Amino acid sequence: MSEEIKVQLTTKPGEKPDSNNLSFGKYFTDHMFIMDYHKDKGWYDPRIVPYAPIVIDPAAMVFHYGQAVFEGMKAYLTDSGKVLLFRPDQNMKRLNRSNDRLGIPEVDGEFVIEAIKKLIEVDKSWIPTEKGTSLYVRPFIIATEPCLGVRSSYTYQLMVILSPVGAYYSSGLEPVKINVESSYTRAVRGGIGFAKAAGNYAASIKAQENAKKEGYSQVLWLDAIEKKYIEEVGSMNIFFKIGGKVITPEINGSILEGVTRSSVLTLLQEWGVPVEERKLSIEEIYDAYKEGNLEEVFGTGTAAVISPVGELHWNEHTMEVNNGEIGELSQKLYDTITGLQSGHLQDTRNWTM
Ligand code: PMP
Repeated sequence: MSEEIKVQLTTKPGEKPDSNNLSFGKYFTDHMFIMDYHKDKGWYDPRIVPYAPIVIDPAAMVFHYGQAVFEGMKAYLTDSGKVLLFRPDQNMKRLNRSNDRLGIPEVDGEFVIEAIKKLIEVDKSWIPTEKGTSLYVRPFIIATEPCLGVRSSYTYQLMVILSPVGAYYSSGLEPVKINVESSYTRAVRGGIGFAKAAGNYAASIKAQENAKKEGYSQVLWLDAIEKKYIEEVGSMNIFFKIGGKVITPEINGSILEGVTRSSVLTLLQEWGVPVEERKLSIEEIYDAYKEGNLEEVFGTGTAAVISPVGELHWNEHTMEVNNGEIGELSQKLYDTITGLQSGHLQDTRNWTM
């Protein structure tokens, strides 16, 4: 795509939130990016406009059959005032994998990255500077055609909105408690689990709310058929360090392939830590725990980067991991990835842009 991105600036800039009290996804910047699609025209009319509610037909297919996909990444302001994105090309590849699965047309990933850069440039003053804060970037696509026939929409809108977000852990890394979900299922192989599709999150909310009520921060999903093999956490992939080896579930069609997951795998390989991507059952984890070999458990995802797990709850079993403390490897991965993202560590892998 080579169409020029038009820019219409707001005449009413909003008030910036207190950067010590941002939490996640509550505030939005002054502008947003929009681009339309029609099956006869392709993607057209890319534009940056003032952030505002959109007008959409109540018959728009997204409301009825859920053709909606999204992405999530963060932009960081470095000490020298540069803005860094972390592996946005990977998010664009995943967006197109999601599009393909949901019958949504492909986007030109490089063009969308250019649009994101331009939007961030316009709203650069919204990037918070407090330690650990960042600007969350949320690209998403919805089916807009007013039609109740069940088929893929002929029209879509791609939008990008920006949200200044707080540090996930305000006072350094903190181990979380996770509940292994034994009744509900998030996704099945052959379904849309590997896509970053809105519907996957709808499927996850009830179990997540139940876990919250019981004092757990997220749920750990098991496979849909046998309720035996580990899949992923609510919004993170998961890693286990057992007897010196790091194991994570293999990409199997029902879990989301995280950008952080892939970065962690690369780092571990570079550091010479033995890693395995394979099927991993919850019994294997419990056995390792009983034998005293479950050394570390951590989740990986854009929001928290690395989330050490201090306690895993599975049916009647409670497994305390590493005495509920942050593991050495979790801390090292967190320091390395956040160091690269914020520009404090030199990027030798071309991960930042
Ligand atoms: N799994 C799910 C279900 C998620 O929502 C996320 C967050 N995008 C992840 C894993 C981690 O992916 P990433 O590292 O790309 O943020």
